[in-house]
Amino acid sequence: FQASTIPNLCFRNTYAMSHTVPKLNDPSLLKTNVAYVNGSWVKAASGKTFEVFDPSSGKLIGTAPEFDAADTKAAIDAAAAAFPSFKTKTGRERSKLLRKWYDLMVENSEDIAKLITWENGKPMADAKGEAAYAANFFEWFSEEAPRVYGDTIPASIPGNRVVTYKEPVGVCGLITPWNFPAAMITRKIGPALAAGCTVVAKSPGETPFTSLALAELAHRAGIPKGVVNIVSALKNTAEVGEVLTTSPIVKKVSFTGSTGVGKLLMKQASSTLKKLSFELGGNSPFIVFDDADLDIAVAGAITSKFRSSGQTCVCANRIFVQEGIHDEFVEKFAAKVKEFKVGGGYTEGVTHGPLIHDRAINKVDAHVRDAEKKGGKVIQGGQKMPELGSNFFQPTVITGMTTDMALASEETFGPVAGLFKFSTEEEVIKIANAADVGLAGYFFSRDLQRVQRVAEALEVGMVGVNTGLISDAAAPFGGVKESGFGREGSKYGIAEYQTTKMITYGGM
Ligand code: NAD
Repeated sequence: FQASTIPNLCFRNTYAMSHTVPKLNDPSLLKTNVAYVNGSWVKAASGKTFEVFDPSSGKLIGTAPEFDAADTKAAIDAAAAAFPSFKTKTGRERSKLLRKWYDLMVENSEDIAKLITWENGKPMADAKGEAAYAANFFEWFSEEAPRVYGDTIPASIPGNRVVTYKEPVGVCGLITPWNFPAAMITRKIGPALAAGCTVVAKSPGETPFTSLALAELAHRAGIPKGVVNIVSALKNTAEVGEVLTTSPIVKKVSFTGSTGVGKLLMKQASSTLKKLSFELGGNSPFIVFDDADLDIAVAGAITSKFRSSGQTCVCANRIFVQEGIHDEFVEKFAAKVKEFKVGGGYTEGVTHGPLIHDRAINKVDAHVRDAEKKGGKVIQGGQKMPELGSNFFQPTVITGMTTDMALASEETFGPVAGLFKFSTEEEVIKIANAADVGLAGYFFSRDLQRVQRVAEALEVGMVGVNTGLISDAAAPFGGVKESGFGREGSKYGIAEYQTTKMITYGGM
């Protein structure tokens, strides 16, 4: 590697292709054992830490502080103390701060990407894509911050005037997952700061160092102390989550993660009736109609299914192919999957990395075995790859899928494509909509009427028509049903961090 441009948060040149673990506690390498609270690097009061492992090599990366309830309360207090002055900054002032943070992310994007690959495992090309995507949220919301408008409303009562103001909701608790260690956090912090809120973000236990790298850049960007606080926990996660969801000081919780944890947090947050937004799990249908452009559909399915080795919430989870083109699609699709190169994320030419941990591997393996037992045919892959390490699984294609398989009803979150054959539009819409979640849905067709009809019929928050890639800082991201509520990105994203205050002037 090149010498790092952010030596205090990343690694200089020690973690080369050889997977040599850098010397721990060397301040020139990672920010270990500290989190970022009130503008300072602090340890957990208990002194406890937890270990973070490289999913490719299984080796220890470093240790991060194990925050508990008291540590989290201190971070919330810091955010509360910073709120009155931050909320009265002009939109333009907040915009400049976010823009500066964005510029630093771009300047250091190579190091951020290395860090993402290190703790998440995704190949460097994907990690660079994530670093750019993550930075986009700061850029987009820096432009949105000065453009927060209220309304002037014609009153029904003579002599009255009604106006509305958009006000920041207050201190926000943010909880994010490991699958996008940078982008899930910036997607929340960008709009929160643009609106004038202050935040306490709980970083994912598997990938805390990327979050801390962002904190270091926030510091260098001059974000005022207490505005952004990043805490970490592994064993104490539930305790930290409980404080964030029940503290009367925290006015909003934004969570990205599994539906099960979302339900728990919603219950906890009911004690103080917080504003909430939840980006939860998906089970995305991906439908290819007979009239689709086959090559575009195959390319879309490859991207949508196998990006980050299938570990994104909007990954195609159920692929439906109409009977007229089913066999040809399967052949082309499986041939592309065969070309993948699986390995460590830093290795040149590797297209797909490991899964995050052994629990993920075991779930994927169980889904494949279940599909086989119920009549599915594994035509590509299907096995663990111990020769590469304990977290690797072969990119897998299974045909003959049926709705009773676990792969059909649960989010697999791994590199397994299950293909169903279907005959009619009505039939496939019915099966696609049978899921209790509804995050993203994709379909491929060149029939204009069908495109309109199916886009409207799918019970999801986001639809990709003739594309497998839908994420964009400028577009509203979010789901329906048990995929949650609230939107991230776009003008809808900032609204999640605001309240609308109505003022009536009488006797005018
Ligand atoms: P998870 O729900 O286990 O964890 C997500 C985050 O919540 C982590 O930071 C974790 O430490 C924290 N957490 C876990 N238990 C908690 C508790 N009791 N209190 C407070 N925080 C707690 O999910 P995961 O397995 O890490 O991530 C994968 C899931 O996230 C998938 O279901 C995926 O679909 C979903 N996801 C959704 C989106 C989206 O935008 N809809 C994006 C990415 C991932």
